[in-house]
Amino acid sequence: MNNSERSHRRTGPVALITGGSRGIGYGIAEHLADAGFDLAINGVRPEDAVSDALDKLRQRGCDVIYCQGDVASTEARVEIMQRIKAHFGRLNVLINNAGVAPKERRDILDATEESFQYVLSTNLQGAYFLTQAAANWMIVQQTEQVDFWGCIINVSSVSATVASVNRGEYCIAKAGLSMATQLFATRLGEYNIPVYEVRPGIIKTDMTAGVTARYNALIDNGLALQRRWGLPDDVGKAVASLAQGAFPYSTGQVIMVDGGMTIPRL
Ligand code: NAP
Repeated sequence: MNNSERSHRRTGPVALITGGSRGIGYGIAEHLADAGFDLAINGVRPEDAVSDALDKLRQRGCDVIYCQGDVASTEARVEIMQRIKAHFGRLNVLINNAGVAPKERRDILDATEESFQYVLSTNLQGAYFLTQAAANWMIVQQTEQVDFWGCIINVSSVSATVASVNRGEYCIAKAGLSMATQLFATRLGEYNIPVYEVRPGIIKTDMTAGVTARYNALIDNGLALQRRWGLPDDVGKAVASLAQGAFPYSTGQVIMVDGGMTIPRL
């Protein structure tokens, strides 16, 4: 892409995807790149460890920057937003996707406070305060640009409602993210900035690699109505349609991407 093409493209919308260099976040990034977004990709690994992923996204024709930083850190969140302001000068869509599983699955009668803090600070506190920062900036952008379009999308999990007693901290973090979605949807309603929750089921990524055999058996036995693993691409399609404004009058809603797993059955 030459300079004039790049400067032309840089009038397009910008999305920040936390945890966007692999797994579900990367699936989202691919769809947003194809939809004409420029991307700020966040993660904890150094940039040289994710350069292949960033280059593949650039090959789809978008401008991509990497914002390394731990979303659980106040300082890192400030730096992420400053880097986007310096490079793009705007932000239309925040996708809170970064997340961790407990390092060790332990029964809630035995699990540690350290693990609780690790999971909650990453999966909930990070997303909550990044949303606060992005929302305040979107409100300012709206005063400067009459046709500004912005939205916030939280990637939660079926664990927001499905109890797994060997990873209670993860379930609580996702249930909290679900309420955070409703809170910010309520607060940002007057600005017409929708906030959505996308709730995936069992998705094939590094996070689930260690439990592949267990989930293979569950899927074969009908855990979900659709008898296959979910893919990052499935979540990417849903998030991209939200980010492009396909559900403008649905703020605060949950979009299920779980193959029907959570439909109660008798
Ligand atoms: P993954 O393959 O393990 O990728 C996690 C991503 O989050 C990585 O890019 C990682 O960065 C980033 N990340 C982790 N901690 C971070 C931190 N403190 N600050 C910034 N970035 C951080 O996981 P995934 O399966 O794609 O999961 C993505 C999201 O979907 C998570 O919120 C997860 O809870 C949710 N989810 C997953 C499933 C599933 O079955 N896989 C189901 C429902 C919901 P690096 O790449 O730099 O390490």
